Amino acid sequence: MPIYRLICDTCGEEQDIYRSVARMNEDLPQCCGELMHRKICAPAVIADIAPYQAMGIDVATGTAPMITSRSSHREYLKRNGYVEVGNEMPDTSKREVKGDFNVRQELKKAVQEVLPKYKN
Ligand SMILES: [Zn+2]
Repeated sequence: MPIYRLICDTCGEEQDIYRSVARMNEDLPQCCGELMHRKICAPAVIADIAPYQAMGIDVATGTAPMITSRSSHREYLKRNGYVEVGNEMPDTSKREVKGDFNVRQELKKAVQEVLPKYKN
């Protein structure tokens, strides 16, 4: 979905909104008592990544390829089942917690001991 830049004709305040093309004109924010309207500006374009030598072997070629674009980077990772460090999903399948964490009674007892000391 695109980001649209809105501007207030009265005070010049600018604001960005993020929504689908179909909803671009719905529920526009107000400023100075009037609806803000779209300001046409250059789109934000992210430059492609700089080429790099991959560290891992590509199953397609048996060699570590030269990656030259974001799309080739994504395809290379997907094709080989690689995950970028920092983007990996946490493994939630082994979330066993050992130990007795039922401390309600101990907390209640501690509060009952301490609380009278702090009453006025
Ligand atoms: Zn305004």
